[in-house]
Amino acid sequence: MIKSPRGTQDILHPDSDLWQKIEDCAIKLFSQAGFKEIRTPIFEATELFDRAVGEDSDIVNKEMYSFNDRSDRSLTLRPEGTASIARAYIEHALDREGKPQKLWYRGPMFRYERPQTGRYRQFHQIGIEAIGAKAPYIDIELIQLGKQFLHELGLNDITLYINSLGNQESRTNYINALKSFLEELQDSVCEDCQRRFRQNPLRCLDCKVPGDQALYKDAPIISTYLDEDSKSIWQETLAALNKLGIKYLIDNNLVRGLDYYSHCVFEFKTDSKELGAQSTVLAGGRYDNLVKTLNGPDSPAVGWALGIERLALLIPEKQITTKKVFIISDDPLGAIELAKKLREDSGLCIELDYENSKFKKQLEKALKKNFEWAIFYLENERQTGSFKLKNLKENLEYSGLNYQELLRKL
Ligand code: ATP
Ligand code: MG
Repeated sequence: MIKSPRGTQDILHPDSDLWQKIEDCAIKLFSQAGFKEIRTPIFEATELFDRAVGEDSDIVNKEMYSFNDRSDRSLTLRPEGTASIARAYIEHALDREGKPQKLWYRGPMFRYERPQTGRYRQFHQIGIEAIGAKAPYIDIELIQLGKQFLHELGLNDITLYINSLGNQESRTNYINALKSFLEELQDSVCEDCQRRFRQNPLRCLDCKVPGDQALYKDAPIISTYLDEDSKSIWQETLAALNKLGIKYLIDNNLVRGLDYYSHCVFEFKTDSKELGAQSTVLAGGRYDNLVKTLNGPDSPAVGWALGIERLALLIPEKQITTKKVFIISDDPLGAIELAKKLREDSGLCIELDYENSKFKKQLEKALKKNFEWAIFYLENERQTGSFKLKNLKENLEYSGLNYQELLRKL
């Protein structure tokens, strides 16, 4: 038997209902907030991620699916969405269409990671970006949208963690202090961190090894290295969150796994045991230099992405009930016509039996497949032009209904 590749999954019913619900929620919320959907290719030139995500990041170093195509171009299955969107923003000169460009996306991402609960090699993200936006108020609105999105899907035991990475100068000063601190620890930390220490010390703070994390608890604190400019932006951000009553915890070691971040970075985490070690559901931050790094116009920006798989593991089951109606009939063509009319008039999910089986068997099917309602449309009903409606969950029954009455009862 051929199986799906390691770290990938088929999304089957009823999970696919939940995925649809998540995407519907995104479409509604983001369009209300004026974000436009953008769809970019699933693969890009490898160089895009080398430059955008950073050659020293874990993603580029060991997680990318890169290959040479038949013309010997190096291509990579996208490991994340922001780099592609920054590329599209530059390629189509979207800065000329007005600022900020508020965009959202959804789709599969690919990372060669060790598969476990909430961590896969093909996973799916929904994300939003505001490009060409400098004031920290847009960070606040993005955080609020993330919170509202999770809330609308029934997730409330979620904590917002936040930190500031400051501007480039602040970060350089901080990294010098961090280096002296890390130097002492080099005999005790994991091999990856020893490499990170040499190549990109900030990345050490993002290490997932518990022993290393414990050592890094005493690392110097970045917020004390912020210059005046960065400090005032950070204070403005925190004041705005306080004013709007958006609760947060400051995590001094929150640096995020990608190199393009500056100033405000944040993560929404859950305490739920469902996700094991993978407690971050939604993560993002400001990336003021990314577009410039890719040779685009100076365009400060901010964005976040969430993992659909992790979200789906957390959503209570009761969030995915849809009303379903089964037509029990001895006239399949009549039932097809009735189903079409009912779908148009009620907007509900209407199904029927295609085998023309005995009506008891049809009823069994409806019960087995968890239908809430059955409409009986048998010889007796057809002759009198009426319908019998039965609620299969509560054992309620109505006979002799005309079509309008039937619609009202559903
Ligand atoms: P983590 O720290 O868990 O590795 P990350 O910092 O690599 O996450 P981002 O690149 O910021 O994650 O991606 C944003 C979100 O995408 C994560 O919060 C998570 O919900 C989801 N995500 C990231 N990698 C995976 C994966 N391999 N499998 C499933 N979901 C993922
Ligand atoms: Mg990761």
